[in-house]
Amino acid sequence: KSLKIIKEQEEYETSALNYPKYFKIAIDKALGSTVIDVDGNVYIDMVTGISVVNLGHNNPYIRRAVEEQLGKIWHSLEVPTEIRVNFSKKLLSTLGFKAKLLFTTTGADAVEAAVKIARWITGKKTIITFEGSYHGITAGTVGLTGANRYKNFTQFFDDRVAKFPYPYPYRCPFKDCLNEILDLIDYALSNPGYLGDDVAGILVEPIQGEGGYVVPPKGFLKGLREIADKYSIPLIVDEVQTGVGRTGKMWAYQWENIEPDIVCISKAIGEGIPVSMVAYRQDYDKLPIGFHLGTYRGNPLGLAAGLAALEFIEKYDILSRVQRLGNKIIKELSTVNNSHVGDIRGLGFMIGIELVKDGKNPWSEGTKKVIEEALKRGLLVYKAGRWDNVIRLMPPLTIPEILLDRALTILNDILNSL
Ligand code: PMP
Repeated sequence: KSLKIIKEQEEYETSALNYPKYFKIAIDKALGSTVIDVDGNVYIDMVTGISVVNLGHNNPYIRRAVEEQLGKIWHSLEVPTEIRVNFSKKLLSTLGFKAKLLFTTTGADAVEAAVKIARWITGKKTIITFEGSYHGITAGTVGLTGANRYKNFTQFFDDRVAKFPYPYPYRCPFKDCLNEILDLIDYALSNPGYLGDDVAGILVEPIQGEGGYVVPPKGFLKGLREIADKYSIPLIVDEVQTGVGRTGKMWAYQWENIEPDIVCISKAIGEGIPVSMVAYRQDYDKLPIGFHLGTYRGNPLGLAAGLAALEFIEKYDILSRVQRLGNKIIKELSTVNNSHVGDIRGLGFMIGIELVKDGKNPWSEGTKKVIEEALKRGLLVYKAGRWDNVIRLMPPLTIPEILLDRALTILNDILNSL
C-alpha cells in the first residue's frame, strides 16, 4: 500500500520533495512516540517532524485543547480572543524577561520579523549570523542561513549579512573555540573599517539544528550577550528548533542564564499546527501599525495547542525528565565502539551522532545507511549537518522509557555494525 501512495505522490507533487527520499513509507497515523504506516508497520519516532510534535503524536492533553477550540473559532485575524490572550500571558511568563509578542506563521516568517525589528530599532542593516546556521530559506532568510547550497536556487536574497564561524568543538580550526571566535566578532565590531557601525543585530541558534546538532562551548551565548551590550546591538536568539523543552529547558538560552532581546519561536509551540511568533524586549515596542502582516498569524487552533503544550510541560515536569533521559541517551550511545562514530553530543533530547570515515572526513553515505537500516528495523531517525553526516535524534519529550531503550538498542546495534 505504501508503494502505491508513494507513486501517486510522485505523480502529483513537485520533484523537489526531500523527506520521501529517506522515508519510503506512507503514514496512516501516529500515536504517542510511534508512527504507523498504511501497511500496519509500527515505527518508534525519533524525528517528531523535526522537533515539532515535541509532546508526542495525538497527545490527548493537546488534542482536547484543540478540540475545544475547534468548537469556538478557527481563524480570527488579530481580533482578540480568549485563547490568544491566555496563550500570550502563559508564553511570556516562561521567557524570563519582559517581552511583547508579534505573531507570525512559520519559522522563517518569525526570523524575518525578528530581523526587521532589529533593523527598525537600530536603524542599521547588517546582521551577524554564523556558518552552518539555518534560519529558513525564504528570500528574506536564505541569506541569513549559513549553508550556501540553498542560495543556488534563488538570485534574490538578503546579502546584508556578516557570517562568522560557529564554535563547533569537534571541528574547530582555532586553539580556543570559544574566545577566539568571540574576539573575532568583537574585533570586527570595534573596527570601523570592517563591519563599520552598521550592525543591526546578532542572530544565533543556541545549538545549531540543521547545521548538525552542534553544541557550542558553555559561555558562547553569554559572550555574545556581552558583545551585544558593548555595541548596543540586539541579540536575536533563534529558538525555532531548540525551544519548547527540547534541550531540557523551556528555552535553550536559559542554560546560559541570559536575556535575549528578541526570540524566534515556531515548530513545537504549535505541536504540528503551523503557528509561530517573535518575542521582543518590551522597550522595543515602538513598532508602527502594519509593521509585519500575514493572514494566518496567531491561528487559534495553534495557540490552543501551544497553551496546552506549555501547561503540559510544567504539569508533568517534562524538563527534568528530558535532562535525566538526555544524559542517559548520551551515556548509552557512548558505549558504541566503531571508528565511524566520530562524535556524540547533545543537550536534553537534541542529540547528534557525527559519522566520519578515514579519520575525521564527513561520511554522508553513512547517515543514509543508518536511516535506511533503522527504518527497516522500525525506527525513524534523520540526518543533519553541513555535510549531511550527522544522525540527529529528537524523540518526543514524552517517549516512554521502554521505547527509548528499544530505540537505543536498535541504534547501538546499527552503529556498532557500520
Ligand atoms: N530556524 C531554525 C533554527 C530552524 O531549524 C528552522 C527550520 N528547520 C527555521 C528557522 C525555519 O523554519 P520553517 O521551516 O518553519 O520556515
